Amino acid sequence: MVHRPRRLRRSGSLRNLVRETKLTAHDFVLPLFISERLTTRKPIESMPGVFQFALAEVADEAQRSFDLGLQAVLLFGIPKEKDEQATSAYAENGIVQAAVRAIKDRCPELVVITDVCLCEYMSHGHCGVTRRDGEHFHVLNDESVELLVRTAVSHAAAGADLVAPSDMMDGRIGAIREALDARGFENTGIMSYAAKFASVFYGPFREAAESPPQFGDRRSYQMDSANAQEALREVALDIEEGADIILVKPALPYLDILWRVRERFSQPTAVYHVSGEFAMVKAAAEKGCFDERAAVLEIMTSLKRAGADIIITYWAKELAEWTLP
Ligand SMILES: [Zn+2]
Repeated sequence: MVHRPRRLRRSGSLRNLVRETKLTAHDFVLPLFISERLTTRKPIESMPGVFQFALAEVADEAQRSFDLGLQAVLLFGIPKEKDEQATSAYAENGIVQAAVRAIKDRCPELVVITDVCLCEYMSHGHCGVTRRDGEHFHVLNDESVELLVRTAVSHAAAGADLVAPSDMMDGRIGAIREALDARGFENTGIMSYAAKFASVFYGPFREAAESPPQFGDRRSYQMDSANAQEALREVALDIEEGADIILVKPALPYLDILWRVRERFSQPTAVYHVSGEFAMVKAAAEKGCFDERAAVLEIMTSLKRAGADIIITYWAKELAEWTLP
């Protein structure tokens, strides 16, 4: 036999030598939830080991993450007050704006990415401005984009390195890029949730971010899980409008999308391993179905192998420890 692929699998050292995909702490971004209502951290029931933090604690948590080798955190805010204009989302001293300042003060080298959306700040929990007519409701695109732009600019003013619009309104990347440039924030980057699918796997996140929609669902703005070509069109539009990093969400059920996006566009690509995916693995590991660490490492390797340059995951800190060279 001329070809015996097993020759290179004979020992650990040989396997290490020919391994194509290697994880490092630099691959991972840790999401952080910061609540204006808390004075001390509160566990999120549906996501074991994940917390909402108080503003006073967030710089410490960010510093710990950086010390472990992580390069970036992604901030989500939970405001004290919600209304129908998401006023707290773009308040100069809003929870995210304050958290950015606190983290940058303590740990200036850590890349701070901010989620830009309105759902946590809207009394109705939708990602944009809504108008009801009778039984129906509409999420208004251009009115929502105006508020998203104000939010992104306020995050940049607070010192965010990257803003990450996750709302899926049309035209928001271009509008945000233009507004950032006009205000002198030409070095603030945009990580765009370019292909974000309406997914059942966001369930636990809504507890974490306290943002479940009070009526209707998000299918008029998030993508239909059946559509891959449309995902490529969405990504192309966001790149054209100025996205620096594009993101696919969720992760494992959309591995084909991630692969196609990475193959088609030469743009840094991120993937968000979401709360429901996290909760499934936790539950299965607790039942003894498999070892949590081995499962997580296999999943993360598959995401990187499929083309992810950046992986957003609730295991980021553990992964930093597990993957130290
Ligand atoms: Zn949202």
